Amino acid sequence: MTTTPGTSEVRARLEDERQRIAAEITVLIKADRGSEADRAGRSGGTSDVAEQASETFEHDNSLALLRSLRVTQDQIERAVAKFEQGTYGRCDECGGPIAAERLEAIPYATLCIDCKGKGERRRSASPGGDRGPSSTAAA
Ligand SMILES: [Zn+2]
Repeated sequence: MTTTPGTSEVRARLEDERQRIAAEITVLIKADRGSEADRAGRSGGTSDVAEQASETFEHDNSLALLRSLRVTQDQIERAVAKFEQGTYGRCDECGGPIAAERLEAIPYATLCIDCKGKGERRRSASPGGDRGPSSTAAA
């Protein structure tokens, strides 16, 4: 087995991403708690319904953002685990290599572009009519 040059670089990038996401989550949770406290603080005579509605909207928005950040966090953890197992850069779905430029853009990608696309289509489209690869060679 040959060691890919720049492996430690990738590892460092994953670590960076992990810390960045963790920091974003912390900020988001703090900001959300802040607005919650703010709301409670002036509950004495809240009259502006529109303002309340927009706050609820913001709250929902940050929840959605938080959820997507947590998904990214999971992906990073998974990529780090794959790194330790020596399967980093291989697709979780088909076991094929993930394109270098894809890993360059998203160091925590765990699916190749084909499987990623398939997964997204599967989620949005109705099940059935799944045209998988015709050759399913048993390794
Ligand atoms: Zn794949």
